[in-house]
Amino acid sequence: MLVVKKFGGTSVANKERIFNVAERCIEDYRKGNDVVVVLSAMGKYTDELISMAQDINPRPPKREMDMLFTIGEQMSVALMAMAMNQLGVPAVSLNAFQVTMRTTSAYGNARLKRIDTERIFTELECRKIVIVTGFQGINKYDDYTTLGRGGSDTTAVALAAALRADSCEIYTDVDGVYTADPRLVPTAKKLKEITYDEMLDLSTLGAGVLHNRSVEMAKKYGVPLVVRSSMNRKSGTLVKEDAKVERMLVSGVALDRNADRVAIIGLKDEPGIAFKVFDCLAKKNINVDVILQSIGRGGTKDISFTVDDGDIQETVEILEANKSRLGFERLESETKIAKLSIVGAGMISHPGVAAKMFETLYNENININMISTSEIRVTVLIKSSDADRAINAVHDAFGLAE
Ligand code: ASP
Ligand code: MG
Repeated sequence: MLVVKKFGGTSVANKERIFNVAERCIEDYRKGNDVVVVLSAMGKYTDELISMAQDINPRPPKREMDMLFTIGEQMSVALMAMAMNQLGVPAVSLNAFQVTMRTTSAYGNARLKRIDTERIFTELECRKIVIVTGFQGINKYDDYTTLGRGGSDTTAVALAAALRADSCEIYTDVDGVYTADPRLVPTAKKLKEITYDEMLDLSTLGAGVLHNRSVEMAKKYGVPLVVRSSMNRKSGTLVKEDAKVERMLVSGVALDRNADRVAIIGLKDEPGIAFKVFDCLAKKNINVDVILQSIGRGGTKDISFTVDDGDIQETVEILEANKSRLGFERLESETKIAKLSIVGAGMISHPGVAAKMFETLYNENININMISTSEIRVTVLIKSSDADRAINAVHDAFGLAE
């Protein structure tokens, strides 16, 4: 068997934890398996690198940021190889150059395009444990790139797909994927399994367990994932294809406080307006989420939508700059809002799920600002101050509590 095992920053934060990870990998190796390990930078080292950079230059060139970032992962793979050697097992660390992991050119947010497997297979044939840097790649200019914060998960899945691994295990500091963030919902329980699509919605919605691109990639290549803790032996959560998972009506509830709302009031009610508005935002790479358009009245209409809170200022600036071309009356923005979502593959075949969510919020006297749905998800926008109460009530109402 060939196994890919990925360990996050907290799992390799210090000497004891590095040896703990080394031992877990060696256990696998001693069973006769080929073991490929993907690591993140130790602890909060990536954040430390960011503050070091900012201290020198508040707006550092992205290329140089990536150059800097890559040392974090390089440090952890080298130390891990040393730990395994110390334990008497041959191991070799490889960075993105040595493996050759090609990405698109976008510094700070690159996508993996191709991974050469030759070097890794050669090392495995020599019965070494191969330890690969997560998060990094190289682009067509032979510069280092990174895959976005949390990107080591994606490196692991991509490697598992390229090497046709038998399993891909993502080790983290939680026991698996929960029905809700246990810090917000004390009664949340661990899921035994979940579909790629549900996981995708939950990770995009801020459940924060997996990098969402890693789930996209796992789905595309059919790589089953196991999410489990590096600190204990519990079995974790299996993320896999729809057909193999017992469909839950609702598998999880997610809360995202990083959304802000913009309303454009008094737009002309004519064809092409929505296109013009969202086109000028798309051109500046602003991601728009929940969109609501009012019915036209007296020749005008309103459009509201949400953006990431980091993008709100730029969004308002772009719209103001285009005010005369778009022809609207005024803008309103609201920052104290939260996005609450329920996700479940079972919704496809069960009516009434959304109604139950709305009823629960009504019983709590919580007002809904905006609603958006997909086949397996219902999202509502509510006041930030209602968010804790709302997520707990909805989590209870769908019987998810332990
Ligand atoms: N070290 C990187 C980060 O902190 C990548 C990762 O941990 O996955 O974002
Ligand atoms: Mg992570």
